[in-house]
Amino acid sequence: CGIVAYIGQREAYPIVLKGLKRLEYRGYDSAGVALLNGSGLKVYKKKGKVAELEDHLSGKDVRSHVAIGHTRWATHGEPSDRNSHPHTSGSGRLAMIHNGIIENYSQLKQELLKKGHVFKSDTDTEVLIHFIEEIQKSNQCGLEEALRIALKRVVGAYVIVLVDEDNPDTLIAARKGSPLVIGVGKGEHFLASDASPIVEYTKEVVFVNDYEIAIIKADELILKNISNERQTPYIQKLDIEL
Ligand code: GLU
Repeated sequence: CGIVAYIGQREAYPIVLKGLKRLEYRGYDSAGVALLNGSGLKVYKKKGKVAELEDHLSGKDVRSHVAIGHTRWATHGEPSDRNSHPHTSGSGRLAMIHNGIIENYSQLKQELLKKGHVFKSDTDTEVLIHFIEEIQKSNQCGLEEALRIALKRVVGAYVIVLVDEDNPDTLIAARKGSPLVIGVGKGEHFLASDASPIVEYTKEVVFVNDYEIAIIKADELILKNISNERQTPYIQKLDIEL
């Protein structure tokens, strides 16, 4: 299973699709992408191979400069189209990919069901994206703040990447226990579970630490810890040839 994301000037979808193929060796049962462009958020997901997702998207308008992609290894909910990632929030405005497990998802889900949330999948992941949006609404705060509050409640392991239709120039990512590498390019950033989808574009990478949140724009990378303190990204130069 794995995650890939891109933000920058290039066409995002081909980069993310190729990256998902590079991560295929990790094993997975489904794949999906979310694309952001001027006309909003589009989510495509399919049980099966990345090639099936690619077929599903052929002929569709995939133009976008921001994209997130996922290969799933099901832990909560059978492998199916609807359980595939990305998952969206109640309003449909937020989309999220996640590798790992939200161990206390069932308690959070009960709380959200009482508040009227309706779920479209059986995953732990969908619970987290609904929970984040619920916090945003009830606390009247931004997405980053809502994510921080949500992660303080979360028990489990995760790497997550979020996009917000209302903020199409920003990706937000976080990790605990699952790997996340950010490739730093010129006016662009690449995110992936390991460096293999990134090295052909840039050798400069940041390995995000546990409990860090990354706020990523095409030309800016901000890292913060869970207490909202800025961290200096440590940019390493990879010594890998393709
Ligand atoms: N727990 C999540 C699910 O079952 C993510 C699994 C994964 O790491 O791919 O959908």
